[in-house]
Amino acid sequence: MYDILIKNALIIDGTGAAPFEADLAVQKQKIASVGVLKNADASLVIDARGNALAPGFIDMHSHADFSLPTLPTADSLVHQGITTVVVGQCGLSPAPLMEESRQEVTGAISSFFGDVAKSLPWREWSSFGDFAAFLARQGCSLNIAALVGHGVIRAGVMGFGEGRANADQMARMQQELIAAMQQGAIGLSTGLIYPPGSFTSTEELIELTRVVGARNGFYFSHIRDEGDGLLEAVAEAIRIGRETGAAVQISHFKAAARPNWEKSTQALELIQQAREDGLDVTADMYPYRAGSTILVAMLPQWAHVGGPEQTLKRLADPDQRRKMTADMQTGGFARGIGWEDVLITESPSHTRYEGRYVSQLAADAGKMPYDWVFDALLETRLDITMAMFGMSEENRRREIVFPTMMIGTDGLGLAPGGPLAAGVPHPRSYGTFARVLGRYVRELKILKLEEAIHKMTGMPAKKLRLADRGLIKAGLAADLVIFDPQSVSDPATYENPHQYATGISHVLVNGRPVIQDAAHTGARPGLLL
Ligand SMILES: [Zn+2]
Repeated sequence: MYDILIKNALIIDGTGAAPFEADLAVQKQKIASVGVLKNADASLVIDARGNALAPGFIDMHSHADFSLPTLPTADSLVHQGITTVVVGQCGLSPAPLMEESRQEVTGAISSFFGDVAKSLPWREWSSFGDFAAFLARQGCSLNIAALVGHGVIRAGVMGFGEGRANADQMARMQQELIAAMQQGAIGLSTGLIYPPGSFTSTEELIELTRVVGARNGFYFSHIRDEGDGLLEAVAEAIRIGRETGAAVQISHFKAAARPNWEKSTQALELIQQAREDGLDVTADMYPYRAGSTILVAMLPQWAHVGGPEQTLKRLADPDQRRKMTADMQTGGFARGIGWEDVLITESPSHTRYEGRYVSQLAADAGKMPYDWVFDALLETRLDITMAMFGMSEENRRREIVFPTMMIGTDGLGLAPGGPLAAGVPHPRSYGTFARVLGRYVRELKILKLEEAIHKMTGMPAKKLRLADRGLIKAGLAADLVIFDPQSVSDPATYENPHQYATGISHVLVNGRPVIQDAAHTGARPGLLL
């Protein structure tokens, strides 16, 4: 008598091999048996005829660590088949927090995640270990692998100033990182377009990341430039891996803004070359043309020096505004992006901006777009996020078939009702994995189903060295997804994002149903990996 028996499924085992029909039995937390299990019986029998059965999806780029304390059921993620998230990304993690800088650091993080971050019970933790223990006490519906954010460590030790770390500061940062890794973190993430990551030299990053390499850890990077300087930024990440021994993941790979679209192929070639040189360098992406981040990230780097209060002062100064405009037109994050391509997604204090493009908002206000942006940043005290349609669909199709490209949502665990239903966030939090299967596999036919599943399961598990996950094989953890390849899709749109993926009927995490008959069971069987 098994706990769960899944019958007549088309098994896609995560290795990239062709699908085959079989039954699968689950006992306790593990896959007990795969094959023809005619006479087997179980407490729960699921007839999966006509459906695919795959290992649970691994989201290589998630910010769910900021939503899990509020919504441990991570509904928008598990509904798309995700059973493991890699969090602590882009230099941002809820921990470790240092007492002397706690206020400043949590304030800066809040501007990234708006109301989601403001409602966090920040007082519940200081160290990474505290945060991990908090998640374990609370329970959550999916498994978590966690990085430590470089920005959080550096701001904690050095604030939001420029300048190089001195020997004491470097020692302190290394100690914080080592402590977090001893408490379960798998490595370091950087966000090199955001302060203080943007103020950090390559040499300083190498010095810090050495302690990660020495512990066989990972270096995940939101690289320094995804536009004009894409190739240099990819090369920097590879160099950090080469000099420290850390395994490198290039996060949410993209070539942003039309003048840089041609760089996508060359950037992928750099990754390929590094692999041929023997380095563990891979990447992930989400299957959309738009990226999304805080609006203030569009300002030139110098405008961020000293932290948010200094940025606000500069935004109120006409001379500084003129200088920002000139710099944004000639370089940096915003070059080559039209204001008709920038959609305001969340603005808790001015919800009337949400779901509208900067070009429209500026026209309605009778302002030049740059002035509208500066004014909106002032009005909202920088608490405003956007989606930017800066990528080429043709590139997206080339990038997703790149042999070591994996999938990451770059999203949060949200739900259409309750505290995390605000705004019109980027649809990736709801749709990413279903969109790969529906659009890129079924409709565009540029990936075979088993190839796409491999990118979502076996490939990331191997990268993360999760020996007991990512494949369908007896003895491995029973993280499983049942979906209909003919109907799986992502109804979430930019206009109406709060809609769950469809066509995914069952999701098991460590042998327990989290999604059953397309509904969340409320179960929280997730583990910290
Ligand atoms: Zn990022």
